[in-house]
Amino acid sequence: MNRAPGFMENAFPPGMPDEQSWQQACALRRQHWGDAVFLRGIIEFSNYCKQNCLYCGLRRDNAKLARYRLTPEAILAATADIAALGIGTVVLQSGEDPHYDAPALAEIVSAVKRRFGLAVTLSVGERDFADYALWREAGADRYLLKMESFDHSLHARLRLGCSLDARLRAFEHLVSLDYETGTGLIAGLPGETPDSAQRDMAKLALLQADMISISPFIPHPDTPLGAQPACPPTTALHRMALARLATPCAHIPVTSALALHGNAMRLQALEVGDVLMPSLTPENVRAAYAIYPGKNAAATPPKVRAAAMQAMLLEHGFSLPSGPGKAWRKKS
Ligand code: SAH
Ligand code: SF4
Repeated sequence: MNRAPGFMENAFPPGMPDEQSWQQACALRRQHWGDAVFLRGIIEFSNYCKQNCLYCGLRRDNAKLARYRLTPEAILAATADIAALGIGTVVLQSGEDPHYDAPALAEIVSAVKRRFGLAVTLSVGERDFADYALWREAGADRYLLKMESFDHSLHARLRLGCSLDARLRAFEHLVSLDYETGTGLIAGLPGETPDSAQRDMAKLALLQADMISISPFIPHPDTPLGAQPACPPTTALHRMALARLATPCAHIPVTSALALHGNAMRLQALEVGDVLMPSLTPENVRAAYAIYPGKNAAATPPKVRAAAMQAMLLEHGFSLPSGPGKAWRKKS
């Protein structure tokens, strides 16, 4: 991966854990989730986006990106692959794409529930509250809505036309609809300061989300932040540990942006994290889900990659529960 000049592996902001707190975070992960790794198969069903987040390759002003949308049939075929792998959750993710109106997506959610009985996570951004309610009624179990940054001015600057308050209200509404809710951050966004990073972690703790996703910022050349430095992977790793200390029973994924740094990094991250999200997006479109460079770039077919990931985890002594892998507060 290209790293900008000035990249420093050990440049942690204040508040990063020492060895002792890292060990504590590892112990909490084991206490709550044992040796389990929960797999969520993700289908990135549209890369159209009406938003213009400065950091993201799917932003609407990125005219270089070839856009795609999967048909409901293609989404269900990819879901069949996920079910065949013994994975209990499908994550349906996209840019903010109004083409899939609320009833269309509700239809897909109920077809997934009917045919495969998998847990369904949606990650399609900020939508009308009535849409969230309809999808919940259709059987959606979880919703992932990352705050990205809890700093009001940084959030407004990086997520053009959006506000942190609106996103927080959307999150609270999802909680009120009894979704299992996920949120999180992009670590090392340009403009982040040691103080804002510390406040981010404190505010994240207040939400006590069921799932917490922390990705390292990776610059995309076709965005306004293309020349900014990448976030060191260790920074994301340490913030995952802090998230574990603050919300011990959360599901914490190793994001694909962190896993990009190789298998050793992925395994290290699984000492505090407990979720991996292999992409089962069909081969003919998957490289175009280019949130950041290198995402979905592997040549191996998605099913083969996911099966290899399962084998690798078993080899390293992890167990792979086949159920939905519910949030702690919903475990029976
Ligand atoms: N459109 C939806 C979901 C898809 S984007 C939404 O924004 O909520 C999925 C995630 O990709 C975002 O939540 C963000 O955290 C991450 N992301 C986008 N650009 C990134 C970048 N350059 N580096 C790291 N993560 C990025
Ligand atoms: Fe769209 Fe999500 Fe990317 Fe923002 S982060 S541009 S909302 S896909």
